[in-house]
Amino acid sequence: MSRLKIAAGNWKMNKELEEALDITRTLANSSRPTDVLTILGAPYPFLKSLVDQTLYVDHLDIAAQNCHHKVSGAYTGEVSVDMLDSLGVQYVIVGHSERREYFSETDDMLAEKVNLLLAKQMIPIFCCGEPLEIRKAGNHESHVGSQVSNALFHLSPEQMKEIIIAYEPIWAIGTGETASPEQAQEMHASIRDLIKDQYGSEISEMIPILYGGSVKPSNAKEIFSQPDVDGGLVGGASLKADDFLEIIHSF
Ligand code: PEP
Repeated sequence: MSRLKIAAGNWKMNKELEEALDITRTLANSSRPTDVLTILGAPYPFLKSLVDQTLYVDHLDIAAQNCHHKVSGAYTGEVSVDMLDSLGVQYVIVGHSERREYFSETDDMLAEKVNLLLAKQMIPIFCCGEPLEIRKAGNHESHVGSQVSNALFHLSPEQMKEIIIAYEPIWAIGTGETASPEQAQEMHASIRDLIKDQYGSEISEMIPILYGGSVKPSNAKEIFSQPDVDGGLVGGASLKADDFLEIIHSF
């Protein structure tokens, strides 16, 4: 089965509005493969402008980088799923390792976010990945497996079909060090197997699993050519339109 190919950018807390509009305009006006979905993970304040800018652009969508795990209420400074929905945002990155680490996000909170998003027909890009010491101890597959099962395996098969997973080894994020194509493939196959055990092969074969961690124009092709790697979640290299375009053309 051929799965959707995805190049998702994650700008994190970078750029100002005009720069964000510029990158998006360049991507919108450049030729991109029609079988690759490009998603831009933008900061909250830019979302409405970018959604409007890409409304009639094919294969180019906007993601929020987070959402709150409660529906609404006294959570000063937070942004709800309903708010994002009201802007026309379709994708939301959930459980990025920076959020897990700096904002103490737990599997339970991530499960709540996923539930709220799916209830609004929005697509979670669910992040998982191990720190270096877990990899060195050889426990990376069970660590990532429990992140996936704890936050996602309460979902019905119909809901599970909607999920995008991003495997991002923490030791490779923003470090310039990339997992080898073999390491990425091994983990992606292990995640897919886990989903197969829980939901069966029809669903496990449908779910896009992206790799994230220092993807750049020079290594994207090799990583994306692995059979269970369906694209990338790209931080640093998505901040320059030319680099990101090269990555989008690497499939
Ligand atoms: C990320 O932010 O998810 C990421 C993978 O960053 P980078 O590509 O810069 O390593």
